[in-house]
Amino acid sequence: MTAELKKLTCIVCPMGCELQVDEKKKIVTGHTCKRGEIYGIEEVTHPTRVITTTVKLAKSIYPMLPVKTNGAIPKDLNFKCMAILNQVEWRAPVKLGDIIVKDLLGTGIDVVATRTMGLKK
Ligand code: SF4
Repeated sequence: MTAELKKLTCIVCPMGCELQVDEKKKIVTGHTCKRGEIYGIEEVTHPTRVITTTVKLAKSIYPMLPVKTNGAIPKDLNFKCMAILNQVEWRAPVKLGDIIVKDLLGTGIDVVATRTMGLKK
C-alpha cells in the first residue's frame, strides 16, 4: 500500500521548498532545513498562522493601523479573527507594540500595533 503524501510549499522562508508529508508516519521529505520539517509536521497536525492585517484608525493622518498577532493562532480561527479585526476602530496616538486586542478568541495571543502613529495635526 502506498503512503498518503500531502504536498505543501514551505512558507517559513522565501526559499519555498516543496515538501511531502507522510500524514500517518509524520515523516517530511523535500525540506532543506529543520524549520521546514517542523512546519510540515505542524501543518498536518495543528496548522497555525501569524495574522498580519490593518484596523481602522481615527484621529491620525493615516486611516488604517498595521497590526499583527504576537504569536501564531490556529489556522481555522483565521476567518473569525478577521471578522473581529474588521470591527475594531482604534484612535491615535498609538505606539508600536500597543495591544489592540487582548487574548484574541481566547488563544492567549494578542493583536499588537506594528507601527507608531501620532495624532493628526
Ligand atoms: S525547508 Fe527550510 S529552507 Fe526550505 S523553505 Fe522551509 S525554512 Fe526555508
